[in-house]
Amino acid sequence: MIQAIDELVSALSRLPTIGAKSAQRLVFHMLESPQEELNTLSSRIRDLRTRIVTCRQCFNYSEGELCPICSSTTRDQSLICVVEKPSDVFAMEKPGRYRGVYHILGGVLSPINGITADKLRIAQLRVRIETQAVKELIIGLGSSAEAETTSLYLARLFSRAGLRLTRLARGLPAGAELEYVDPVTLNQALNERIDIRYSDAAE
Ligand SMILES: [Zn+2]
Repeated sequence: MIQAIDELVSALSRLPTIGAKSAQRLVFHMLESPQEELNTLSSRIRDLRTRIVTCRQCFNYSEGELCPICSSTTRDQSLICVVEKPSDVFAMEKPGRYRGVYHILGGVLSPINGITADKLRIAQLRVRIETQAVKELIIGLGSSAEAETTSLYLARLFSRAGLRLTRLARGLPAGAELEYVDPVTLNQALNERIDIRYSDAAE
């Protein structure tokens, strides 16, 4: 109807969780907002991709070469939690109890969709395990069928003496993605994590 409004509504409604109605509400809100606020918002969006890079160690989002977790002197670098994507780190950090570091795999195995082992950051994980004094690998990949397959694949690949392999406890809802699990449940799943033995992995 009014092109400038329609265009912004359609751009916003392409964002996840924002339907046409919410998009319209946002646009009307913006029309009533001070110009300065809109300028700030648009420059934050414009600069996002140039300000954010990938951490060279864990592959999480970062503003520097190393993310704040990898460069922290109080985090235990010998404990690595493997997660699927950066938003999982945000979920794991919410309870504020985990003191180790992370490794972002970049997905889970799904041969049907062309996601094979070489498409994930498994080689980089191997380098970390072989070059840093890693004592425990916590596999925190959620509970979908693909995540389960990937967990077993990793357990089999990295199963060796001196490296403890664990996975989050089964308290997670079936098929759950980490980012949608509430902090209390996630913290419990972390505290009650289960050792993966090679015999389990080899099944
Ligand atoms: Zn990092």
